Amino acid sequence: MEKSNIIVVGGGIAGTMTALSLQRSGNQVTLIDRWEPGHARAASSDYNRVIRAISGHDEFYTRWARESRQRWLELQAETGQKLMYECGALILATEGHSDWEDASSATFDKVGVPYYKFNQDEVSKRFPQFKVPDISYALFEPEAGMLMAHRCVITGVELFKKAGGIVKRGHVTTDSTEKPLLDNKPLEADVIIIATGAWMSEMFPRTIKPISAIIGLPVFYTSTPNGSDLFDKDKMPCWIDHGQNSFGIPSSEGSGIKAMIAIPEKIDLDNDERLIKREALARTQSYVKHRFPLLENEKVVDSKFNQIILTPDTHFVVDWHPEHTNVLFAGGCSGHLFKHGPVFGEFVSGVAMHNYGTADRFKITGRKKLSPKESPSGR
Ligand SMILES: Cc1cc2nc3c(=O)[nH]c(=O)nc-3n(C[C@H](O)[C@H](O)[C@H](O)COP(=O)(O)OP(=O)(O)OC[C@H]3O[C@@H](n4cnc5c(N)ncnc54)[C@H](O)[C@@H]3O)c2cc1C
Repeated sequence: MEKSNIIVVGGGIAGTMTALSLQRSGNQVTLIDRWEPGHARAASSDYNRVIRAISGHDEFYTRWARESRQRWLELQAETGQKLMYECGALILATEGHSDWEDASSATFDKVGVPYYKFNQDEVSKRFPQFKVPDISYALFEPEAGMLMAHRCVITGVELFKKAGGIVKRGHVTTDSTEKPLLDNKPLEADVIIIATGAWMSEMFPRTIKPISAIIGLPVFYTSTPNGSDLFDKDKMPCWIDHGQNSFGIPSSEGSGIKAMIAIPEKIDLDNDERLIKREALARTQSYVKHRFPLLENEKVVDSKFNQIILTPDTHFVVDWHPEHTNVLFAGGCSGHLFKHGPVFGEFVSGVAMHNYGTADRFKITGRKKLSPKESPSGR
């Protein structure tokens, strides 16, 4: 494809990494967002996100995560920005609830992902922060860690601008045929990429809404014990605790320990105040006390109320609009896109330039709910 004029709508991690890849491939790209990239409503805008290869039996995402880790480290070296902390990830396999973890170690062996398998005693010795009487074992992925999410987005936007990309503010809407409009006029470009995260559903009520659900998720940051660095990233890994429907991230750069229990809530993307409900607070505090007794008297110091958009199989959407043949969807639609950002962006960029078609799993049609055993996210 010759140098193209491309519009990317949405400046979260999906849009930013796609725009960067396309601009660096010699195209002229404009990135449009309703708000300033990095704004608090975007799913990509929290302090941090976990990056880990673990994806159950799913080799595809395991390999993408490993490749993305490499890309994040390269972006970090290129920019001098601290984008990733390699604090590892501890995956707790709960008694009677370990299909996903069992499948993951087989995938790790196949793909060559380094990991350890710990019993309860080994977890307690190595990571005394965790109380784990209810687990059957844990997997430890030492090359996993956290991405400084907000910084990753901002760094991506800066790199995009440095490469000659244009960043514009604007609210893209659609007409009754789902043609994208800006200021009520059709958007004109060789390719228009829609990377509007959860907003994709309301923008495309015929194409995306039927295959997606949006949920709000409250996240809490708890203080670290006075005078102790035991819960900092240098001493503590990220963790996934599927048996308790939870995951979390150690304290970094003063954030406090982040814990999220999947307590799905309804969310109005544009009109809700992004505040946390008391019930979610109580449930998260009770989980934190259960898993981390040393945090019993600690206090919530920060919180986020954000959204994910999910397809039935939790696979991303990278596909052309069925009627508007220059409109390409690039949606996370999974709850696990952030870590894959750079590789996702490169992949979407190749599809946009018609270098190759999309993967079957990313097509709009043929979506079906997977069992937790089949699902890459274990949900
Ligand atoms: C609580 C929580 C925890 C998570 N944890 C992890 C994790 O640990 N690891 C991981 O890999 N992933 C995680 N995820 C998932 C990950 O954060 C998301 O999949 C990813 O950030 C989605 O990025 P996006 O660019 O698709 O969407 P967004 O970041 O939401 O960006 C969409 C952008 O589009 C813009 N936009 C919307 N509509 C329009 C419009 N009409 N016109 C112009 N612009 C528009 C918005 O303003 C926004 O900036 C988590 C998500 C949540 C909510």
